[in-house]
Amino acid sequence: EVGETPVGETPIIEIAGLSKHYGSVTAVDDVDLTIRRGEFFALLGPSGCGKTTLLRMLAGLELPTAGTIRIDGQDMSAVPANRRPVNMVFQSYAVFPHMTVRDNVAYGLKVDGVPRQEAYRRAEEALELVKLGGYGPRRPDQLSGGQRQRVALARALVKRPKVLLLDEPLSALDAKLREQMRFELVNLQESVGITFVVVTHDQDEALSMASRIAVMDHGRVQQTAPPAELYEFPRTKFVADFIGSVNLIEGTVEASDDGLVRLSAPALQVPVEIEQASGLPAGSTGWLALRPEKVDISREPPDDAGRNTVAGTVEEITYLGDVSIFHVRLTADQPLIKVTIANLDRVTRRPFTWGDRVHLSWAPTCGVVLAQ
Ligand code: ATP
Repeated sequence: EVGETPVGETPIIEIAGLSKHYGSVTAVDDVDLTIRRGEFFALLGPSGCGKTTLLRMLAGLELPTAGTIRIDGQDMSAVPANRRPVNMVFQSYAVFPHMTVRDNVAYGLKVDGVPRQEAYRRAEEALELVKLGGYGPRRPDQLSGGQRQRVALARALVKRPKVLLLDEPLSALDAKLREQMRFELVNLQESVGITFVVVTHDQDEALSMASRIAVMDHGRVQQTAPPAELYEFPRTKFVADFIGSVNLIEGTVEASDDGLVRLSAPALQVPVEIEQASGLPAGSTGWLALRPEKVDISREPPDDAGRNTVAGTVEEITYLGDVSIFHVRLTADQPLIKVTIANLDRVTRRPFTWGDRVHLSWAPTCGVVLAQ
């Protein structure tokens, strides 16, 4: 399964009716959410959706306007940040520049009164976890960006929190390093077994690392599910659009029974049939969400043409190396339909070119129909 790791069912964080207002701004709006022990959980959403505010409330750095947070069964309402069983890694992963790596990691323990020897022993353990064993005597300016980021992780892990909160942990790294660190974070999470809650606006990051993702918009959780479920069965137009690329086609629900939704869409010349156990009422507006790679494109109409098949003209082609996107015009006044085809050949032989008449089709098990 894509990006899924088996985790326990026991909740470690239980959020109920949680809201945060700043004056007239509603940053977090009536959120209910359960995060399970040992999972790698991601809060994903566009800038300003409230994900950082939610994370900061878990850390105790912001107080909720309403609602409750329980961590490991305990109500956090009256528990200050430094007494919570969580630790936070900040976006800038600040480390003290004048201290050695070892002192950076041991700092929090010393503040807590852990004896020096014991603090250094645990610091070394934490450094080994993040693959920086032996780097203790160095100073942060003798490390690469990725290594400094790991020092920040070791510093958060050394206190053995029940939950590690990470705010955009990879955003300060360059693209190559970011991708490598995704694997390392996943491996680290698996080896320490601590629950990770990561905030990110990067869908690839969330999809590749998290066991489950909560997609947020305007302070609300739109959907919480494992990566593949979010991609294949988005529940709202926002989720369909935010995760990956999608064609969204408006129509009217004709019928919805026996696990089949029938839709008539002005942009499409034929009835649409999608296998889906949804209770969309007949007569309501429905949006067909169709992933570009799930649409077949051919010169001749497929044999079972009649449903889920439309004709159009190739208007644009975007070459992206691994795939090409064919933008197909169906009718003059409707948006183009995107179809992606993998470029499996070294010599990129384009199966179609500009102006070609083509037929698009998709199986009833591809795509979903979403409510307005
Ligand atoms: P980003 O990825 O840009 O950090 P975000 O999803 O983390 O965005 P938040 O930082 O949680 O979003 O902000 C949510 C909303 O609350 C935004 O409209 C923001 O302007 C507002 N907000 C956040 N902190 C404060 C504050 N201290 N005072 C006033 N408004 C705030």
